[in-house]
Amino acid sequence: MNEKMVVEFMGTYEKNARVGLWKPFLMRFLLFILILLPTIAQGQIKVDKAGDGWDLKVDSAITLIKQTDTNYYRILVEHCQRVEFWNGPFSTNEWANNSGTILVSVKDVKLNSINNLVAVLVHESCHLIFRKAEYVVSEEDEERECYLYEMNLILQLPNLEPWLYEHTLRMSNKK
Ligand SMILES: [Zn+2]
Repeated sequence: MNEKMVVEFMGTYEKNARVGLWKPFLMRFLLFILILLPTIAQGQIKVDKAGDGWDLKVDSAITLIKQTDTNYYRILVEHCQRVEFWNGPFSTNEWANNSGTILVSVKDVKLNSINNLVAVLVHESCHLIFRKAEYVVSEEDEERECYLYEMNLILQLPNLEPWLYEHTLRMSNKK
């Protein structure tokens, strides 16, 4: 072998050795990401454990939002970091320290409709958009906006219950 050939060989050898070391590392890294992906995607909203699997129902609603409209999902995870349950007569929200919480009324959980929980979550995420951006409008206007926002999503849901549609329609037309 002349000098040129040695240099060429060493270059190829080094390249192969590097690929050889990187390959298992890359494979493991990719596998790690793939395993973590559902946790990363779903883990952004912390749902309190409560009741008879209420948190699982909220998880199902979040998954349904994700499957139905990725923009609604993106806005939800961007504005809501936590879901809690409370005994009040209606679902509501809190915005503090640049973090949003949706308080789902036990009444809404007991209606036993994942579609209704979807409606609650997107509706409250709309209020959180107002809180985060510090939009100041009248209470009636904000409420109407949020019911319209909710309507646009629930119309895409399979097996939308007529009572849920009627309620959202009535509320979005309220003067
Ligand atoms: Zn509202």
